[in-house]
Amino acid sequence: MNALPPLNPETIKFLQAPRRMLIDGAWVNAASGETLDVFNPATEEKIATVPAGGAADIDAAVKAARRAFDDGKWTRMAASERGKLLWKLADLIEANGPRLTEVEVLDNGMALNPAGKLAVPLAAATLRYYAGWPTKITGDVIAPDPRMPGAETLTYTRKEPIGVVGQITPWNYPLGMATMKLAPALAAGCTVVLKPAEQSPLTALILGELVQQAGIPDGVVNIVTGTGEAAGAALTAHPLVDKVAFTGSTEVGRLILKAAAGNLKKVSLELGGKSPFIIMPDADLAKAIPSAVYSSFFLQGQNCMCSSRLFVHKTIFDSVMDGMAKIASGMKIGPGLDPTTNLGPLISSEQLERVQGYVASGRDEGATLVTGGKRLPGKGYFMEPTVFAHANPKMKIVRDEIFGPVTTAQMFDTDDVDAIARLANDTDYGLVGSVWTQNVSVAHKLAARIRAGTVGINHHGPAGNNAPFGGFKQSGWGREFGKEALDLYFETKTVFANL
Ligand code: ADP
Repeated sequence: MNALPPLNPETIKFLQAPRRMLIDGAWVNAASGETLDVFNPATEEKIATVPAGGAADIDAAVKAARRAFDDGKWTRMAASERGKLLWKLADLIEANGPRLTEVEVLDNGMALNPAGKLAVPLAAATLRYYAGWPTKITGDVIAPDPRMPGAETLTYTRKEPIGVVGQITPWNYPLGMATMKLAPALAAGCTVVLKPAEQSPLTALILGELVQQAGIPDGVVNIVTGTGEAAGAALTAHPLVDKVAFTGSTEVGRLILKAAAGNLKKVSLELGGKSPFIIMPDADLAKAIPSAVYSSFFLQGQNCMCSSRLFVHKTIFDSVMDGMAKIASGMKIGPGLDPTTNLGPLISSEQLERVQGYVASGRDEGATLVTGGKRLPGKGYFMEPTVFAHANPKMKIVRDEIFGPVTTAQMFDTDDVDAIARLANDTDYGLVGSVWTQNVSVAHKLAARIRAGTVGINHHGPAGNNAPFGGFKQSGWGREFGKEALDLYFETKTVFANL
Protein backbone atom coordinates (compact mmCIF):
# COMPACT_ATOMS: atom_id res chain seq x y z
CA MET A 1 0.00 0.00 0.00
CA ASN A 2 1.26 3.51 -0.81
CA ALA A 3 1.95 5.86 2.12
CA LEU A 4 -1.15 8.04 2.42
CA PRO A 5 -0.77 11.78 1.94
CA PRO A 6 -0.62 13.68 5.27
CA LEU A 7 -3.94 14.97 6.59
CA ASN A 8 -4.73 18.65 6.51
CA PRO A 9 -4.13 20.27 9.97
CA GLU A 10 -7.78 21.40 9.99
CA THR A 11 -8.90 17.77 9.58
CA ILE A 12 -6.73 16.66 12.49
CA LYS A 13 -8.05 19.49 14.66
CA PHE A 14 -11.63 18.55 13.83
CA LEU A 15 -11.13 14.87 14.59
CA GLN A 16 -9.36 15.57 17.89
CA ALA A 17 -11.94 17.97 19.32
CA PRO A 18 -14.99 16.50 21.09
CA ARG A 19 -17.97 16.47 18.76
CA ARG A 20 -21.32 17.92 19.76
CA MET A 21 -24.57 18.44 17.89
CA LEU A 22 -26.27 21.67 16.87
CA ILE A 23 -29.54 22.59 18.56
CA ASP A 24 -30.88 26.16 18.47
CA GLY A 25 -27.47 27.60 17.64
CA ALA A 26 -25.69 25.84 20.53
CA TRP A 27 -23.31 22.87 20.34
CA VAL A 28 -24.56 20.35 22.88
CA ASN A 29 -24.11 16.79 24.14
CA ALA A 30 -26.99 14.32 24.18
CA ALA A 31 -29.32 14.86 27.12
CA SER A 32 -28.52 11.28 28.16
CA GLY A 33 -24.77 11.98 27.97
CA GLU A 34 -24.41 8.93 25.72
CA THR A 35 -22.17 8.84 22.67
CA LEU A 36 -21.69 6.76 19.52
CA ASP A 37 -18.30 5.80 18.13
CA VAL A 38 -17.49 6.55 14.52
CA PHE A 39 -15.07 4.29 12.62
CA ASN A 40 -12.86 4.54 9.57
CA PRO A 41 -13.99 1.55 7.47
CA ALA A 42 -10.57 1.33 5.78
CA THR A 43 -8.75 0.68 9.08
CA GLU A 44 -11.59 -0.29 11.48
CA GLU A 45 -10.18 2.36 13.84
CA LYS A 46 -12.33 4.72 15.85
CA ILE A 47 -11.94 8.27 14.51
CA ALA A 48 -14.50 10.20 16.57
CA THR A 49 -17.39 9.99 18.99
CA VAL A 50 -20.62 11.88 18.49
CA PRO A 51 -23.58 12.43 20.80
CA ALA A 52 -26.13 9.60 20.76
CA GLY A 53 -29.14 11.87 20.40
CA GLY A 54 -32.50 10.48 21.47
CA ALA A 55 -36.10 11.55 21.91
CA ALA A 56 -35.27 14.40 24.34
CA ASP A 57 -32.70 15.91 21.96
CA ILE A 58 -35.04 15.57 19.00
CA ASP A 59 -37.74 17.27 21.02
CA ALA A 60 -35.41 20.20 21.83
CA ALA A 61 -34.31 20.47 18.20
CA VAL A 62 -37.86 20.30 16.82
CA LYS A 63 -39.03 22.96 19.27
CA ALA A 64 -36.13 25.20 18.24
CA ALA A 65 -37.00 24.70 14.58
CA ARG A 66 -40.66 25.38 15.38
CA ARG A 67 -39.79 28.68 17.11
CA ALA A 68 -37.48 29.69 14.27
CA PHE A 69 -40.29 28.98 11.81
CA ASP A 70 -43.10 30.60 13.77
CA ASP A 71 -41.21 33.80 14.60
CA GLY A 72 -40.76 34.43 10.88
CA LYS A 73 -37.09 35.35 11.04
CA TRP A 74 -36.37 32.89 8.24
CA THR A 75 -39.75 32.61 6.53
CA ARG A 76 -40.29 36.32 6.18
CA MET A 77 -36.66 37.20 5.50
CA ALA A 78 -36.36 38.91 2.09
CA ALA A 79 -36.09 36.21 -0.55
CA SER A 80 -32.93 37.79 -1.95
CA GLU A 81 -31.36 37.68 1.52
CA ARG A 82 -32.20 33.97 1.95
CA GLY A 83 -30.64 33.30 -1.43
CA LYS A 84 -27.53 35.25 -0.43
CA LEU A 85 -27.08 33.17 2.73
CA LEU A 86 -27.37 29.91 0.78
CA TRP A 87 -24.79 31.20 -1.69
CA LYS A 88 -22.53 32.14 1.22
CA LEU A 89 -22.89 28.63 2.63
CA ALA A 90 -21.73 27.27 -0.74
CA ASP A 91 -18.68 29.58 -0.61
CA LEU A 92 -17.86 28.35 2.90
CA ILE A 93 -18.18 24.72 1.81
CA GLU A 94 -15.63 25.40 -0.91
CA ALA A 95 -13.35 27.30 1.46
CA ASN A 96 -13.45 24.28 3.81
CA GLY A 97 -13.04 21.85 0.91
CA PRO A 98 -9.88 20.02 2.05
CA ARG A 99 -11.21 19.35 5.55
CA LEU A 100 -14.68 18.32 4.33
CA THR A 101 -13.22 16.02 1.69
CA GLU A 102 -10.80 14.29 4.03
CA VAL A 103 -13.33 13.83 6.81
CA GLU A 104 -15.85 12.49 4.28
CA VAL A 105 -13.38 9.95 2.92
CA LEU A 106 -12.20 8.85 6.38
CA ASP A 107 -15.73 8.56 7.72
CA ASN A 108 -17.42 6.86 4.77
CA GLY A 109 -14.53 5.08 3.02
CA MET A 110 -15.33 6.42 -0.46
CA ALA A 111 -12.41 6.63 -2.87
CA LEU A 112 -11.14 10.16 -3.30
CA ASN A 113 -11.08 9.54 -6.99
CA PRO A 114 -13.76 10.22 -8.18
CA ALA A 115 -16.47 10.14 -5.47
CA GLY A 116 -14.55 11.97 -2.74
CA LYS A 117 -13.29 14.63 -5.13
CA LEU A 118 -16.85 15.32 -6.27
CA ALA A 119 -18.38 15.61 -2.79
CA VAL A 120 -17.50 19.26 -2.14
CA PRO A 121 -18.10 20.66 -5.67
CA LEU A 122 -21.47 18.90 -5.85
CA ALA A 123 -22.53 20.16 -2.42
CA ALA A 124 -21.59 23.74 -3.33
CA ALA A 125 -23.29 23.50 -6.73
CA THR A 126 -26.54 22.23 -5.20
CA LEU A 127 -26.63 25.11 -2.72
CA ARG A 128 -25.91 27.63 -5.48
CA TYR A 129 -28.66 26.19 -7.68
CA TYR A 130 -31.20 26.59 -4.86
CA ALA A 131 -29.77 29.99 -3.84
CA GLY A 132 -31.26 31.28 -7.11
CA TRP A 133 -34.77 30.05 -6.33
CA PRO A 134 -36.15 32.14 -3.41
CA THR A 135 -36.48 35.22 -5.63
CA LYS A 136 -38.31 33.24 -8.31
CA ILE A 137 -41.05 31.60 -6.28
CA THR A 138 -44.46 32.70 -7.53
CA GLY A 139 -48.10 31.72 -7.25
CA ASP A 140 -50.84 32.09 -9.88
CA VAL A 141 -53.70 34.48 -10.48
CA ILE A 142 -56.85 32.44 -11.20
CA ALA A 143 -59.71 33.52 -13.44
CA PRO A 144 -62.84 34.66 -11.55
CA ASP A 145 -65.59 32.06 -11.10
CA PRO A 146 -68.95 33.77 -11.86
CA ARG A 147 -70.76 31.52 -9.33
CA MET A 148 -68.71 32.95 -6.46
CA PRO A 149 -70.15 35.93 -4.53
CA GLY A 150 -69.05 39.44 -5.39
CA ALA A 151 -69.23 41.65 -8.47
CA GLU A 152 -65.49 41.78 -8.62
CA THR A 153 -63.21 39.15 -7.14
CA LEU A 154 -59.57 38.23 -7.07
CA THR A 155 -58.28 34.68 -6.62
CA TYR A 156 -54.60 33.97 -6.34
CA THR A 157 -52.28 31.33 -4.90
CA ARG A 158 -49.31 31.69 -2.60
CA LYS A 159 -46.50 29.20 -2.21
CA GLU A 160 -45.84 29.01 1.52
CA PRO A 161 -43.17 26.96 3.28
CA ILE A 162 -44.55 23.76 4.74
CA GLY A 163 -43.06 24.37 8.20
CA VAL A 164 -40.66 22.29 10.27
CA VAL A 165 -39.00 19.55 8.26
CA GLY A 166 -37.28 16.43 9.60
CA GLN A 167 -34.61 15.23 7.19
CA ILE A 168 -33.01 11.81 7.55
CA THR A 169 -30.02 10.91 5.40
CA PRO A 170 -28.06 7.73 4.71
CA TRP A 171 -24.35 6.96 5.06
CA ASN A 172 -23.40 6.42 1.44
CA TYR A 173 -22.81 10.01 0.28
CA PRO A 174 -23.16 12.03 3.47
CA LEU A 175 -22.33 15.63 2.51
CA GLY A 176 -24.09 15.33 -0.84
CA MET A 177 -27.19 13.90 0.80
CA ALA A 178 -27.26 16.54 3.54
CA THR A 179 -26.94 19.44 1.09
CA MET A 180 -29.43 18.06 -1.39
CA LYS A 181 -31.94 17.82 1.44
CA LEU A 182 -31.17 21.15 3.15
CA ALA A 183 -30.87 23.40 0.09
CA PRO A 184 -34.43 23.18 -1.29
CA ALA A 185 -35.99 23.17 2.19
CA LEU A 186 -34.12 26.33 3.18
CA ALA A 187 -34.78 27.98 -0.18
CA ALA A 188 -38.50 27.38 0.35
CA GLY A 189 -38.33 28.99 3.81
CA CYS A 190 -38.65 25.88 5.96
CA THR A 191 -36.69 25.21 9.14
CA VAL A 192 -34.98 21.87 9.56
CA VAL A 193 -33.88 19.14 11.93
CA LEU A 194 -31.34 17.02 10.08
CA LYS A 195 -30.40 13.56 11.32
CA PRO A 196 -27.40 12.15 9.48
CA ALA A 197 -26.69 8.42 9.44
CA GLU A 198 -24.95 7.11 12.55
CA GLN A 199 -22.24 5.40 10.45
CA SER A 200 -21.02 8.64 8.84
CA PRO A 201 -22.26 11.73 10.70
CA LEU A 202 -19.14 13.91 10.64
CA THR A 203 -19.43 16.13 7.57
CA ALA A 204 -22.98 17.07 8.60
CA LEU A 205 -21.49 18.49 11.78
CA ILE A 206 -18.97 20.55 9.80
CA LEU A 207 -21.89 21.73 7.68
CA GLY A 208 -23.54 22.88 10.92
CA GLU A 209 -20.49 25.04 11.72
CA LEU A 210 -20.66 26.56 8.26
CA VAL A 211 -24.40 27.22 8.54
CA GLN A 212 -23.61 29.34 11.59
CA GLN A 213 -20.71 31.10 9.89
CA ALA A 214 -22.93 31.91 6.91
CA GLY A 215 -25.26 33.79 9.26
CA ILE A 216 -28.30 31.54 8.93
CA PRO A 217 -30.27 32.33 12.10
CA ASP A 218 -30.17 30.01 15.12
CA GLY A 219 -32.75 27.27 15.12
CA VAL A 220 -33.25 27.31 11.33
CA VAL A 221 -30.91 24.33 10.91
CA ASN A 222 -30.52 21.85 13.77
CA ILE A 223 -28.37 18.75 13.43
CA VAL A 224 -28.96 15.81 15.75
CA THR A 225 -26.69 12.78 15.60
CA GLY A 226 -27.97 9.41 16.79
CA THR A 227 -29.26 6.07 15.64
CA GLY A 228 -32.22 5.56 13.38
CA GLU A 229 -34.12 3.63 16.02
CA ALA A 230 -33.72 6.39 18.66
CA ALA A 231 -33.23 9.79 16.99
CA GLY A 232 -34.67 8.96 13.55
CA ALA A 233 -37.83 7.34 14.89
CA ALA A 234 -38.40 10.20 17.38
CA LEU A 235 -38.08 12.74 14.56
CA THR A 236 -40.55 10.97 12.28
CA ALA A 237 -43.07 10.61 15.11
CA HIS A 238 -42.78 14.15 16.52
CA PRO A 239 -46.13 16.02 16.40
CA LEU A 240 -44.54 19.43 15.70
CA VAL A 241 -42.82 18.20 12.52
CA ASP A 242 -44.82 19.06 9.40
CA LYS A 243 -42.88 17.02 6.89
CA VAL A 244 -40.29 14.26 6.74
CA ALA A 245 -37.83 13.88 3.87
CA PHE A 246 -35.95 10.62 3.87
CA THR A 247 -33.29 8.91 1.80
CA GLY A 248 -32.44 5.32 2.65
CA SER A 249 -33.69 1.78 2.39
CA THR A 250 -37.19 0.88 1.21
CA GLU A 251 -37.63 -1.07 4.44
CA VAL A 252 -37.01 1.98 6.65
CA GLY A 253 -39.08 4.08 4.23
CA ARG A 254 -42.08 1.93 5.19
CA LEU A 255 -41.40 2.47 8.91
CA ILE A 256 -41.23 6.20 8.31
CA LEU A 257 -44.59 6.22 6.58
CA LYS A 258 -46.18 4.49 9.56
CA ALA A 259 -44.54 6.86 12.06
CA ALA A 260 -45.63 9.88 10.02
CA ALA A 261 -49.27 8.80 10.10
CA GLY A 262 -49.82 10.18 13.63
CA ASN A 263 -50.08 13.84 12.62
CA LEU A 264 -50.28 13.08 8.87
CA LYS A 265 -46.90 14.58 8.08
CA LYS A 266 -46.14 15.09 4.44
CA VAL A 267 -43.53 12.55 3.41
CA SER A 268 -41.02 12.34 0.58
CA LEU A 269 -38.90 9.24 0.12
CA GLU A 270 -35.88 8.49 -2.00
CA LEU A 271 -35.44 4.74 -1.62
CA GLY A 272 -33.69 1.79 -3.16
CA GLY A 273 -33.05 0.86 -6.75
CA LYS A 274 -32.16 -2.06 -8.96
CA SER A 275 -31.38 -0.20 -12.11
CA PRO A 276 -31.34 -1.73 -15.59
CA PHE A 277 -28.44 -0.94 -17.92
CA ILE A 278 -29.39 -2.15 -21.40
CA ILE A 279 -26.69 -2.69 -24.00
CA MET A 280 -28.04 -3.06 -27.54
CA PRO A 281 -25.99 -4.83 -30.22
CA ASP A 282 -25.10 -1.55 -31.97
CA ALA A 283 -23.86 0.18 -28.77
CA ASP A 284 -20.48 1.87 -28.70
CA LEU A 285 -18.85 -0.72 -26.43
CA ALA A 286 -15.77 1.42 -25.89
CA LYS A 287 -18.08 3.71 -23.92
CA ALA A 288 -20.71 1.27 -22.64
CA ILE A 289 -18.32 -1.21 -20.99
CA PRO A 290 -16.31 1.26 -18.86
CA SER A 291 -19.56 3.03 -17.95
CA ALA A 292 -21.13 -0.25 -16.84
CA VAL A 293 -18.13 -0.85 -14.58
CA TYR A 294 -18.13 2.72 -13.26
CA SER A 295 -21.85 2.83 -12.54
CA SER A 296 -21.84 -0.64 -10.96
CA PHE A 297 -18.98 0.12 -8.59
CA PHE A 298 -19.22 3.86 -7.86
CA LEU A 299 -19.13 4.15 -4.04
CA GLN A 300 -18.41 0.40 -4.00
CA GLY A 301 -21.90 -0.13 -5.40
CA GLN A 302 -23.31 1.43 -2.25
CA ASN A 303 -25.61 3.75 -4.11
CA CYS A 304 -29.23 3.59 -5.10
CA MET A 305 -28.57 4.31 -8.79
CA CYS A 306 -25.99 1.66 -9.49
CA SER A 307 -26.37 -0.47 -12.58
CA SER A 308 -27.04 -3.71 -10.78
CA ARG A 309 -29.04 -5.36 -13.59
CA LEU A 310 -27.19 -5.37 -16.89
CA PHE A 311 -29.13 -6.57 -19.94
CA VAL A 312 -26.77 -7.42 -22.77
CA HIS A 313 -27.72 -8.57 -26.26
CA LYS A 314 -26.65 -12.14 -27.06
CA THR A 315 -24.36 -11.11 -29.94
CA ILE A 316 -22.13 -9.00 -27.67
CA PHE A 317 -22.65 -10.72 -24.33
CA ASP A 318 -19.27 -12.44 -24.15
CA SER A 319 -17.29 -9.39 -25.25
CA VAL A 320 -19.09 -7.20 -22.70
CA MET A 321 -18.40 -9.72 -19.92
CA ASP A 322 -14.73 -10.01 -20.96
CA GLY A 323 -14.35 -6.24 -21.12
CA MET A 324 -15.96 -5.70 -17.74
CA ALA A 325 -13.88 -8.46 -16.14
CA LYS A 326 -10.70 -6.91 -17.48
CA ILE A 327 -11.47 -3.45 -16.10
CA ALA A 328 -12.98 -4.65 -12.80
CA SER A 329 -10.16 -7.05 -11.98
CA GLY A 330 -7.65 -4.25 -12.60
CA MET A 331 -9.33 -1.86 -10.16
CA LYS A 332 -7.15 -0.87 -7.27
CA ILE A 333 -8.79 -1.58 -3.93
CA GLY A 334 -7.57 0.39 -0.93
CA PRO A 335 -8.13 3.27 1.47
CA GLY A 336 -10.04 6.16 -0.06
CA LEU A 337 -7.36 8.74 0.67
CA ASP A 338 -4.81 6.94 -1.52
CA PRO A 339 -5.21 8.87 -4.80
CA THR A 340 -4.54 5.69 -6.82
CA THR A 341 -7.44 3.81 -5.20
CA ASN A 342 -10.46 3.02 -7.39
CA LEU A 343 -12.52 1.10 -4.85
CA GLY A 344 -12.63 1.89 -1.13
CA PRO A 345 -13.98 -0.28 1.70
CA LEU A 346 -17.63 -1.02 2.37
CA ILE A 347 -19.11 0.96 5.23
CA SER A 348 -19.09 -1.71 7.96
CA SER A 349 -18.48 -5.34 8.79
CA GLU A 350 -22.25 -5.93 8.79
CA GLN A 351 -22.51 -4.57 5.25
CA LEU A 352 -19.57 -6.68 4.09
CA GLU A 353 -21.16 -9.82 5.61
CA ARG A 354 -24.46 -9.00 3.94
CA VAL A 355 -22.88 -8.49 0.53
CA GLN A 356 -20.77 -11.65 0.90
CA GLY A 357 -24.03 -13.47 1.63
CA TYR A 358 -25.35 -12.31 -1.75
CA VAL A 359 -22.20 -13.55 -3.50
CA ALA A 360 -22.78 -16.98 -1.95
CA SER A 361 -26.43 -16.88 -2.95
CA GLY A 362 -25.53 -15.95 -6.57
CA ARG A 363 -23.23 -18.96 -6.76
CA ASP A 364 -25.81 -21.25 -5.14
CA GLU A 365 -28.53 -20.11 -7.50
CA GLY A 366 -26.38 -20.90 -10.53
CA ALA A 367 -25.17 -17.52 -11.82
CA THR A 368 -21.67 -17.54 -13.37
CA LEU A 369 -19.08 -15.61 -11.41
CA VAL A 370 -17.15 -13.68 -14.06
CA THR A 371 -14.83 -11.79 -11.74
CA GLY A 372 -14.40 -10.89 -8.08
CA GLY A 373 -16.44 -12.26 -5.21
CA LYS A 374 -13.86 -12.33 -2.44
CA ARG A 375 -13.25 -10.08 0.53
CA LEU A 376 -9.69 -8.97 1.10
CA PRO A 377 -7.73 -10.33 4.04
CA GLY A 378 -6.55 -7.98 6.79
CA LYS A 379 -8.05 -4.83 8.27
CA GLY A 380 -10.78 -2.85 6.54
CA TYR A 381 -14.03 -3.93 4.92
CA PHE A 382 -12.67 -4.39 1.42
CA MET A 383 -14.03 -6.68 -1.27
CA GLU A 384 -13.44 -7.26 -4.96
CA PRO A 385 -15.72 -5.78 -7.61
CA THR A 386 -17.93 -8.67 -8.62
CA VAL A 387 -19.76 -9.48 -11.85
CA PHE A 388 -22.22 -12.36 -12.23
CA ALA A 389 -23.22 -13.45 -15.73
CA HIS A 390 -26.18 -15.58 -16.84
CA ALA A 391 -28.32 -14.29 -14.02
CA ASN A 392 -32.10 -14.58 -14.21
CA PRO A 393 -34.98 -12.64 -12.68
CA LYS A 394 -35.77 -15.30 -10.10
CA MET A 395 -32.38 -14.97 -8.39
CA LYS A 396 -32.03 -13.01 -5.17
CA ILE A 397 -29.01 -11.18 -6.61
CA VAL A 398 -31.30 -9.85 -9.33
CA ARG A 399 -34.34 -9.09 -7.16
CA ASP A 400 -32.79 -7.52 -4.04
CA GLU A 401 -30.90 -4.27 -3.74
CA ILE A 402 -27.47 -5.53 -2.64
CA PHE A 403 -25.86 -2.11 -1.98
CA GLY A 404 -22.38 -3.43 -2.59
CA PRO A 405 -19.92 -4.04 -5.44
CA VAL A 406 -21.93 -6.83 -7.08
CA THR A 407 -23.59 -6.53 -10.46
CA THR A 408 -25.56 -9.05 -12.49
CA ALA A 409 -25.84 -9.57 -16.24
CA GLN A 410 -28.73 -11.16 -18.14
CA MET A 411 -28.62 -12.06 -21.81
CA PHE A 412 -31.42 -11.12 -24.21
CA ASP A 413 -31.95 -12.15 -27.80
CA THR A 414 -34.57 -9.84 -29.27
CA ASP A 415 -34.82 -6.42 -30.94
CA ASP A 416 -38.38 -5.89 -29.82
CA VAL A 417 -38.40 -2.82 -27.57
CA ASP A 418 -41.54 -3.91 -25.72
CA ALA A 419 -39.97 -7.26 -24.86
CA ILE A 420 -36.76 -5.58 -23.71
CA ALA A 421 -38.69 -3.08 -21.60
CA ARG A 422 -40.60 -5.95 -19.96
CA LEU A 423 -37.28 -7.46 -18.87
CA ALA A 424 -36.03 -4.12 -17.56
CA ASN A 425 -39.28 -3.43 -15.70
CA ASP A 426 -39.38 -6.80 -13.95
CA THR A 427 -38.43 -5.28 -10.58
CA ASP A 428 -40.11 -3.64 -7.59
CA TYR A 429 -37.89 -0.60 -8.07
CA GLY A 430 -37.89 2.27 -10.58
CA LEU A 431 -35.20 4.81 -9.81
CA VAL A 432 -32.83 4.89 -12.77
CA GLY A 433 -32.28 3.04 -16.03
CA SER A 434 -30.13 3.42 -19.09
CA VAL A 435 -30.02 2.29 -22.68
CA TRP A 436 -26.87 2.08 -24.77
CA THR A 437 -27.40 2.25 -28.52
CA GLN A 438 -26.65 4.38 -31.59
CA ASN A 439 -30.24 4.05 -32.77
CA VAL A 440 -32.17 7.19 -31.83
CA SER A 441 -35.53 5.55 -32.35
CA VAL A 442 -34.76 2.53 -30.13
CA ALA A 443 -33.22 4.84 -27.51
CA HIS A 444 -36.27 7.07 -27.15
CA LYS A 445 -38.76 4.22 -27.39
CA LEU A 446 -37.00 2.47 -24.52
CA ALA A 447 -36.70 5.74 -22.57
CA ALA A 448 -40.49 6.02 -22.77
CA ARG A 449 -41.10 2.39 -21.79
CA ILE A 450 -38.70 2.00 -18.86
CA ARG A 451 -40.59 2.63 -15.61
CA ALA A 452 -37.99 4.71 -13.77
CA GLY A 453 -37.60 8.31 -12.61
CA THR A 454 -34.48 8.93 -14.69
CA VAL A 455 -33.52 7.18 -17.92
CA GLY A 456 -30.13 7.79 -19.49
CA ILE A 457 -29.36 7.36 -23.17
CA ASN A 458 -25.69 6.43 -23.46
CA HIS A 459 -25.39 7.67 -19.86
CA HIS A 460 -26.29 6.14 -16.49
CA GLY A 461 -27.21 8.22 -13.44
CA PRO A 462 -28.73 11.61 -12.67
CA ALA A 463 -29.00 14.37 -15.24
CA GLY A 464 -27.65 17.14 -12.96
CA ASN A 465 -28.86 19.02 -9.91
CA ASN A 466 -31.35 21.04 -11.95
CA ALA A 467 -33.23 17.97 -13.24
CA PRO A 468 -35.73 16.01 -11.11
CA PHE A 469 -34.45 12.78 -9.59
CA GLY A 470 -36.52 10.16 -7.80
CA GLY A 471 -38.36 6.94 -8.08
CA PHE A 472 -41.29 5.15 -9.67
CA LYS A 473 -42.75 2.15 -7.81
CA GLN A 474 -40.97 1.21 -4.56
CA SER A 475 -38.08 3.59 -5.24
CA GLY A 476 -39.90 6.40 -3.55
CA TRP A 477 -42.26 9.35 -3.44
CA GLY A 478 -41.45 12.78 -4.81
CA ARG A 479 -38.49 14.16 -6.71
CA GLU A 480 -35.26 15.67 -5.48
CA PHE A 481 -33.22 18.25 -7.39
CA GLY A 482 -34.57 20.80 -9.80
CA LYS A 483 -37.72 22.83 -9.19
CA GLU A 484 -39.65 19.71 -8.23
CA ALA A 485 -37.65 19.38 -5.01
CA LEU A 486 -38.78 22.86 -3.98
CA ASP A 487 -42.39 21.80 -4.42
CA LEU A 488 -41.83 19.15 -1.73
CA TYR A 489 -41.39 22.01 0.76
CA PHE A 490 -44.38 24.19 -0.14
CA GLU A 491 -48.02 24.29 0.76
CA THR A 492 -50.21 26.01 -1.81
CA LYS A 493 -52.64 28.54 -0.36
CA THR A 494 -55.57 29.92 -2.33
CA VAL A 495 -56.67 33.46 -1.45
CA PHE A 496 -60.13 34.54 -2.58
CA ALA A 497 -60.97 38.21 -2.23
CA ASN A 498 -64.48 39.58 -2.66
CA LEU A 499 -63.55 43.10 -3.72
P1 ADP B 1 -29.09 2.04 4.83
O1 ADP B 1 -29.70 0.76 4.36
O2 ADP B 1 -28.50 2.89 3.78
O3 ADP B 1 -28.30 1.92 6.11
P2 ADP B 1 -31.26 2.95 6.33
O4 ADP B 1 -32.56 3.10 5.66
O5 ADP B 1 -31.04 1.88 7.31
O6 ADP B 1 -30.27 2.92 5.15
O7 ADP B 1 -30.82 4.31 7.03
C1 ADP B 1 -30.95 5.57 6.44
C2 ADP B 1 -31.21 6.58 7.52
O8 ADP B 1 -32.41 6.23 8.20
C3 ADP B 1 -30.14 6.65 8.61
O9 ADP B 1 -29.97 8.01 9.00
C4 ADP B 1 -30.75 5.84 9.73
O10 ADP B 1 -30.27 6.21 11.01
C5 ADP B 1 -32.21 6.20 9.59
N1 ADP B 1 -33.15 5.23 10.19
C6 ADP B 1 -32.98 3.90 10.36
N2 ADP B 1 -34.06 3.37 10.96
C7 ADP B 1 -34.94 4.37 11.17
C8 ADP B 1 -36.25 4.46 11.76
N3 ADP B 1 -36.88 3.40 12.25
N4 ADP B 1 -36.85 5.67 11.80
C9 ADP B 1 -36.24 6.75 11.29
N5 ADP B 1 -35.01 6.74 10.75
C10 ADP B 1 -34.37 5.57 10.68
